[in-house]
Amino acid sequence: MERLVFVDDAEELASVLASGGGRPIHVLGNGSNLLIPDAGLRGTVVKLGGTFRESRILSEEAGTVRLHVGAGLLNAVLLARVAKLGLAGLGPLAGVPGTVGGAVAMNAGTALGEVADVLESIEGIGPGGTCTLARAELPMSYREGGLPDRFIVTAAVFRLTRAGFEEEQARTAAHLARRKATQPLDLPSCGSVFRNPVGDHAGRLIEAVGLKGHREGGAAISERHANFIVNVGGATAANVMACIRLAFDRVRAETAVSLVPEVHVLGEWPRTEWPLS
Ligand SMILES: Cc1cc2nc3c(=O)[nH]c(=O)nc-3n(C[C@H](O)[C@H](O)[C@H](O)COP(=O)(O)OP(=O)(O)OC[C@H]3O[C@@H](n4cnc5c(N)ncnc54)[C@H](O)[C@@H]3O)c2cc1C
Repeated sequence: MERLVFVDDAEELASVLASGGGRPIHVLGNGSNLLIPDAGLRGTVVKLGGTFRESRILSEEAGTVRLHVGAGLLNAVLLARVAKLGLAGLGPLAGVPGTVGGAVAMNAGTALGEVADVLESIEGIGPGGTCTLARAELPMSYREGGLPDRFIVTAAVFRLTRAGFEEEQARTAAHLARRKATQPLDLPSCGSVFRNPVGDHAGRLIEAVGLKGHREGGAAISERHANFIVNVGGATAANVMACIRLAFDRVRAETAVSLVPEVHVLGEWPRTEWPLS
């Protein structure tokens, strides 16, 4: 990449964006759902730190706690903080490796729910400057945050509750145990590669066309869950892309289903590989 910049506050972020010189600007969360070409990216990559990792209670009324959270905070740290406060609502982020900004951008979630369920508003900066957007203004859907084009989320406000905390902790623990048993969490991956088609599972389709365990260099379609491509040693981004392409082509040829990628692919790729079509 040409330029990687860590920004600590809104002022620094605005100044980095102003100095981009018309080159592409990418925002990196924790990189847990990204595929970047081996040759890197053109332009500037921004990573939020400093004050973007803070959280504070804005108000508490009638059992609802409004929590303001910086977009650079890791989900795992946020979950530890809300557990200490005894707040329920963010259980769907348990086990999702990433930042709050990435979780909003992807409307991350699990079988327990999704970010959209507890999001009140977001703050951020886009081509028109800084603004606050209410949840109702975001066309959020399954793994889709509905952010305006080139919008960087700097903070989110969540509506959490004191009621239901114990129950959510128990549901979350059971859910994490299920994930551990069914997903290849012991090896690096870029998360679920494809969205689940309505009424089906991407992993089931990839397994049905015989690709479980298929290898391209250091990348393999996981034996444990075929919607994960794992790095079994020295995988390049090109190896991962070759697995994605093969899974997409073979599932379409044999089942007529065109899988939709969940992983975000940035940068320039040979037209024969990306975009999938
Ligand atoms: C083992 C594993 C398990 C996973 N399980 C789940 C799961 O159960 N559910 C689920 O939903 N996801 C899952 N994921 C995928 C991933 O963790 C989530 O999508 C996560 O929300 C991505 O967050 P991130 O901070 O890593 O974002 P990145 O991967 O860094 O970025 C993802 C996208 O969000 C954008 N983005 C990041 N931060 C911001 C910001 N501040 N403003 C605007 N755009 C931003 C990026 O530009 C990029 O387009 C899993 C991944 C792995 C590796």
